[in-house]
Amino acid sequence: MQNPDSDKELRQNEARFQKLLESFPDCVVVVDQNYLILIVNRRFETMFGYDRSEAIGRSAEIFLPERFGLLLDWAGDPETAMPHPGESIARRKNGSEFPVEIKLGAIETTDGMEIVASIRDISEGKKNEAQLEYRANRDGLTGLPNRNLLVDRIGQAILHAERFSQRVAVLFVDLDRFKYFMAGLSHEMGDLVLQEIAGRLKSCVRINDTVARLGNDVFVIVVSHLRESEDAAKVAQKIQKTVSRPFKLGTRICEVFCSIGIALHPKDGKDVRTLLKNAEVAMFRAKENGRNCFQYFTEQLNDRIAVRITLERYLRQSMENRELSVHYQPQMDLRTGRMIGFEALLRWQNLDLGMVPPDRFIPLAEETGLIVPIGEWVLHTACADNKRWQEAGHPLLPVAVNLSPRQFWDPDLVKIVARVLRDTGLEPRYLELEITESMVMRDVENALAMLRELKGLGVELSMDDFGTGYSNLNHLKRFPFGKLKMDITFVRDVTHDPGCAAIAKTIIAMAHNLNLRVIAEGIETEGQLNYLRLQGCDEMQGFYFSRPLSCHDFEQLIVEGRRLYVSEESKGSPERTLLLVDDEPNTLSSMQRVLHDEGYRIFSTTNADDGFELLATNRIGVVLSDLRMPGMDGIEFLSRVSRIHPETVRIAMSGYADLSMVTEAINRGAIYKFLTKPVENEMLRKILINAFEHFEILYQTNK
Ligand code: C2E
Ligand code: MG
Ligand code: MG
Repeated sequence: MQNPDSDKELRQNEARFQKLLESFPDCVVVVDQNYLILIVNRRFETMFGYDRSEAIGRSAEIFLPERFGLLLDWAGDPETAMPHPGESIARRKNGSEFPVEIKLGAIETTDGMEIVASIRDISEGKKNEAQLEYRANRDGLTGLPNRNLLVDRIGQAILHAERFSQRVAVLFVDLDRFKYFMAGLSHEMGDLVLQEIAGRLKSCVRINDTVARLGNDVFVIVVSHLRESEDAAKVAQKIQKTVSRPFKLGTRICEVFCSIGIALHPKDGKDVRTLLKNAEVAMFRAKENGRNCFQYFTEQLNDRIAVRITLERYLRQSMENRELSVHYQPQMDLRTGRMIGFEALLRWQNLDLGMVPPDRFIPLAEETGLIVPIGEWVLHTACADNKRWQEAGHPLLPVAVNLSPRQFWDPDLVKIVARVLRDTGLEPRYLELEITESMVMRDVENALAMLRELKGLGVELSMDDFGTGYSNLNHLKRFPFGKLKMDITFVRDVTHDPGCAAIAKTIIAMAHNLNLRVIAEGIETEGQLNYLRLQGCDEMQGFYFSRPLSCHDFEQLIVEGRRLYVSEESKGSPERTLLLVDDEPNTLSSMQRVLHDEGYRIFSTTNADDGFELLATNRIGVVLSDLRMPGMDGIEFLSRVSRIHPETVRIAMSGYADLSMVTEAINRGAIYKFLTKPVENEMLRKILINAFEHFEILYQTNK
């Protein structure tokens, strides 16, 4: 029999205990050693949806399906109290699951160990945590992994690849000219474009590959499970094809291109940092190759980049250290031989690097933005020097200053030019701005607006490097240029390459039709000078007259007033001038002996190259050339002559009558007569008389 007092006491204790449990903010459950539920509080009922009567006596598994057993393992050894609250997934009566935090305690009873678990719903906290985790690892705009998660993913891919001997490729993707592209878009539109591109990139790879966004227009793709390293190229091609598909943006149809650098694990790097760095290096190279290209990493690229970084560091200090200077190269009138202007050319002399040519540092200055302050300095220096020379009483001539793309598209350009003119006091008409063809053709309408504004200041404009871009002639006539600068590439080969000669002639004729003057750049020989002058070219600039000179030396040149010598001969009436070409000096001298009394002016040479130069420098009527010569053979030589100087009369001679060769030459219109060697003296004299008569008739009718 039980003692009624102790019975009452027990009930009181139980009620107290129950009250205590109810006062707990968390759900409390007491289970026995077999995980059967003994006691629960009301909070349990609301949290899990079971009535107390339903729960008691059932296994704890009904609400903690996952880990209750594990959490209780410690109970076998209560001394080792659980160090941290445990976390698990709990399940409600309706089957829905949610995260919980569990704290445990043990009670010794006469029936053995009982366990008290206090359980807290942590789904709110988890949600925040998940958001934090998302924010730390994802790019907000596109939802793609960011650098953090990317590093992690590359690390995992490397581990996996090492275990299964596979390759991993890291592709560094950078959109081409994206800044220019975005400049015309609203913020929202720009975001849409980036989201569209993110989606396209994802569509190019498999589910376990990673597409991450590192910065504004920079994406990285990790391709794992590669069998061949060439497969990375296939992925790159697919990406370029997919990204460049046109898309609609409002009413516009747009296209975006990208450059891709590829680094492979393990060849190009064994760790995440190296792989990323090398893929980026390769991407820079891809950009240099022209846009929309991809490039695998190679060790040589690293050397180049190291050089670039050093160069950039030095360039940043160049202004402060007064290492920059402006040289001047005269521009001469081809009719009068007078100087009509001069071009300002930037020079960089560095203590460690020596003289760095502009072709090496101007692109770098352009990329880094340093060109803006440097360019303004050149403009100021050139205008100030010109003003000084004018004030000293030297001829009033325009100075031509080159503008780089970055400067040209700078919205402040007009203000800068106006300020420099004001500060230096130079009249606007004595400043000419050189703008390259490719700069204006990229965006014709905006370029036109900019050129008109510049022209409005009263400065002159010339189109530099003409012939190297893709000029649309229709646009050309709308631009307010006064002058075309024919690119050096046509000038260099104009005397011996019929293609260049034809282009040069066409450029001159077309420019004159559009009322533009033409200046030929890079004239180095008398032949080039005369040939172009005879074609009607207006002006020249080149080493033939003068290299670019330091400020001091250039001043000397204008003080001396040196002029370009324009030979009267090539302008005047033709005398009977003969050119002999033969690789055997003996043949040449014997022919000269035979002809020395005939009243001809005779030039002779043993090779085709000199032949071209002589033809360009002198008005030659008849060309007599051997067919078999080392280097360029006589047929090729004569047929080029026939295209560059169609007015000449051309005679071929050869030791053996190679019929097919001669027939070809005749068919190509290259020759007038053919002579077999040795040529009989009288025959030679007679043929030449006829040939000159023929020339004079042709010359008269073509004049
Ligand atoms: P550019 O404007 O076409 O300048 C003409 C280049 O041809 C100059 O090269 C000049 O020295 C060179 N040249 C002149 N005559 C001859 C010749 O007879 N033979 C040969 N082989 N070359 C000749 P430079 O000074 O090396 O300049 C190269 C380019 O760098 C320039 O080409 C121009 O695009 C750029 N540059 C030079 N100074 C500046 C500057 O102040 N600002 C900008 N933005 N670009 C500049
Ligand atoms: Mg120039
Ligand atoms: Mg040029």
